[in-house]
Amino acid sequence: MYQRIQNDNGSYNTRCLDCFLTIAFSVESEEELERVETQHLCPEKVLAQLLAWEKAAEGHAACN
Ligand SMILES: [Zn+2]
Repeated sequence: MYQRIQNDNGSYNTRCLDCFLTIAFSVESEEELERVETQHLCPEKVLAQLLAWEKAAEGHAACN
């Protein structure tokens, strides 16, 4: 989920729609955009993952 915005000079900025951070400015190629987007470690997703893990851990503790 990324939003790409084209600049006046033809390059792109790309923004993560989960955490609303602009993760790249003035990127000139599609390949570079994809690379930056793939490498983005989204804080929103990391947080959701952590909460999921915590819940799972609680569930296990309750079983024992
Ligand atoms: Zn993000």
